[in-house]
Amino acid sequence: MTTTDTAAHTQPFQAEVSELLHLMVHSVYSETDIFLRELVSNASDACDKLRYEAIANPALLGEGDALKIRIAPNKAAGTLTIADNGIGMERQELIDHLGTIARSGTKAFVAKLKEAKDGLGLIGQFGVGFYSAFMVADKIIVISRRAGESDVWTWTSSGGSGFEIARAGEEDAGRVTRGTEIVLHLKDDAKKYLETYEIERIVGAYSDNILFPIELVPEEGEPRQINSASALWQRSKSELTAEDYKKAYQQIASAFDDPAMTLHYRAEGRYSYAVLLFAPSAKPFDLFEPSRKGRVKLYVRRVFITDDADLLPGYLRFIRGVVDSEDLPLNISREMLQNNPQLAQIR
Ligand code: ADP
Ligand code: MG
Repeated sequence: MTTTDTAAHTQPFQAEVSELLHLMVHSVYSETDIFLRELVSNASDACDKLRYEAIANPALLGEGDALKIRIAPNKAAGTLTIADNGIGMERQELIDHLGTIARSGTKAFVAKLKEAKDGLGLIGQFGVGFYSAFMVADKIIVISRRAGESDVWTWTSSGGSGFEIARAGEEDAGRVTRGTEIVLHLKDDAKKYLETYEIERIVGAYSDNILFPIELVPEEGEPRQINSASALWQRSKSELTAEDYKKAYQQIASAFDDPAMTLHYRAEGRYSYAVLLFAPSAKPFDLFEPSRKGRVKLYVRRVFITDDADLLPGYLRFIRGVVDSEDLPLNISREMLQNNPQLAQIR
């Protein structure tokens, strides 16, 4: 198969994905709101990735719009579109990222989900990610253009056993100049997500701390920003409430529980950095998964760098949160991460 192929190709999902989708489609899980949190978080990750790649290759950012996320309901079509102008996906990335689950512990998770009576409560804990959109949509179309590429691809699926990949039509390709557009054809019982007040409520509850502007594009009138887009960890403790911390924890960790412990401070001196760490109150279902890694996020001056830096010792891998450094270089490499004196001090 070559990328000059224009015909649509149907591809099967990885077995775990099919199982997961079956559970999603037939779920009686009431917390369907989380689908928007998951898609917004992916859009934000995509903007983070582009900003990071653009440090080495500024041309990728081009002269286009600032990085942002847009949410557009369309009542006549019954669709909700979540779009970003982040990194985008090329053909093979669509196949790899939206056809499999790469995360460790997935098999164990799917098995648990099937056997547990209230297993669907696990959905929020594990963060089923993109696939959670099948709780509210019976058909999903993803249109994507990787930054710097001329090809635009579509990924279409109605759940079931597979998805279709095709070259985007002219109109779609013309509209999606960079990044990803996700079009959800909402199920009848999920049409409430077309209401602007519902969208604002969910973004306010789960995604207020996303660092990029989230714009609501109403069917009539001007787009308006609906998140505060502030880095909460940069604010002073005295102006933050327990509720602010809880929201930040749930957003940063993709969790539903309350934080059992919150650690928020700023170190100044030879090195300056802000730290915001949380211990979950609910036991992660994959606590004993040996390959499970810490996921504390490293930022440098508000730019996300990695969640793979092993900022904490292995036995603290259940801790979630953010370390935002003022002094590390933005283009810090993996090797530098390992031997960096500032990170050693944080550890
Ligand atoms: P996770 O975000 O935990 O990796 P998801 O199921 O939410 O898992 O997403 C799977 C993968 O699909 C992401 O890791 C990313 O590579 C890709 N992806 C999803 N949404 C987007 C998007 N809007 N832009 C670019 N890549 C995306
Ligand atoms: Mg995700």
